[in-house]
Amino acid sequence: MLLGCIADDFTGATDLANNLVRAGMRVVQTIGVPDDATTVEADAVVIALKSRTIEADAAVAQSLDALRWLRAHGARQIYFKVCSTFDSTERGNIGPVAEALADALDAPFVPVCPAFPENQRTVFKGHLFVGDLLLSDSSMRHHPLTPMTDASLVRVLQRQCRGRVGLVEHAVVRQGAEAVQARMSALQAEGARFGVVDAIANEDLMAMGRAFAALPLLVAGSGVAIGLPQNHGLAPSAAAAELPRVPGARAIVSGSCSAASNAQVVDFMQRGGEAFAVDPLRIAAGEDVAGAALAWAGGRLSEKPLLFYATAEPEAVKSVQARLGVEAAGALVERTLSAIARGLVERGVRQLVVAGGETSGACVQALQVPRMRIGPQIDPGVPWCHAQSPVAGAQGLLLALKSGNFGTVDFFTKAFGMLA
Ligand code: ADP
Repeated sequence: MLLGCIADDFTGATDLANNLVRAGMRVVQTIGVPDDATTVEADAVVIALKSRTIEADAAVAQSLDALRWLRAHGARQIYFKVCSTFDSTERGNIGPVAEALADALDAPFVPVCPAFPENQRTVFKGHLFVGDLLLSDSSMRHHPLTPMTDASLVRVLQRQCRGRVGLVEHAVVRQGAEAVQARMSALQAEGARFGVVDAIANEDLMAMGRAFAALPLLVAGSGVAIGLPQNHGLAPSAAAAELPRVPGARAIVSGSCSAASNAQVVDFMQRGGEAFAVDPLRIAAGEDVAGAALAWAGGRLSEKPLLFYATAEPEAVKSVQARLGVEAAGALVERTLSAIARGLVERGVRQLVVAGGETSGACVQALQVPRMRIGPQIDPGVPWCHAQSPVAGAQGLLLALKSGNFGTVDFFTKAFGMLA
């Protein structure tokens, strides 16, 4: 294993894995820390935790456990993957986890860079921009769990850790890897342990990748990943994204109510796709909606994908939430859709698309997926994966997990088209 990654949430883990695969690494993503006996054949392993907003002590403990597994399985470099908008609270968890990992690895200096210019996340003079806006002017300032009201990453990180935080400015990054290394050494000599690194373009990430080649620990969004495979002589290739073929029926489960998912559901049906609507109010009334959906699927399952959706327009969602409560409505729908996903796989579905971040989490849990190999990208941030699952048996299944607003309008058709 060349690279061991610890991601603080599930979709962030997939985003990172997707970038590593695109840059030429074979990647396996695990859901939580695998048991010690598990061995994985890959250039990089991404361990997905759910540690972004839990108590800092628990986040540190889980991250150290992940680190222990990665080192025991030969990881040469550790990548702590954080959100590209640096989602964290005053107390953490980015600072405390980064510091604990640095201590455990005896890392004297750790670069920090959430930039991903392709995705409109850039860092300049240590300030994070989301598109044209400073982080603190973006919608992230209103985030319910991790409101980001300060765009200076040096200040944000400094509030979360004991070690000093410095800055590697863009003027240095632009000069290339050696200049970055020299600046990191100078910061370290001045007593800094962390350095926020500017990046406004892909070439900055490539220079960083080379500069970071020998460092034990990086703290980054998914962008920095594109510069790392080159350090091992790896280049973009279709071979890194190859997945086993798994024949079987096809289905889509959509619990996302984002604008993109709404349009994708409509597009699928307009193309003549057959669909089953999951109505939250009928679930709340005690009807066995999952049972009805699976009975409907019965004779219809084939290579022609079936769609099961709770996806609805904002007004409809609001009215359901007003009657059931926001959390209760979400939980009811997630439980039903994940039961449908499991039932579909029990009935022979082996190629499954799930739309919605939380919905994906619920389905992966219902399918008891311990890990998945990351395959070719369908749309930015959404790859096909080959998942292990006791429900699917030895051959596993092909899974595409699409969060919220990802994907073009014809996403569902395009996804299955790639497998044809
Ligand atoms: P996204 O990635 O678009 O945010 P998620 O799956 O993360 O999608 O979140 C969507 C949430 O909305 C889930 O909790 C889901 O169960 C819930 N939901 C889906 N359909 C409806 C609906 N018709 N009414 C109310 N809540 C819904």
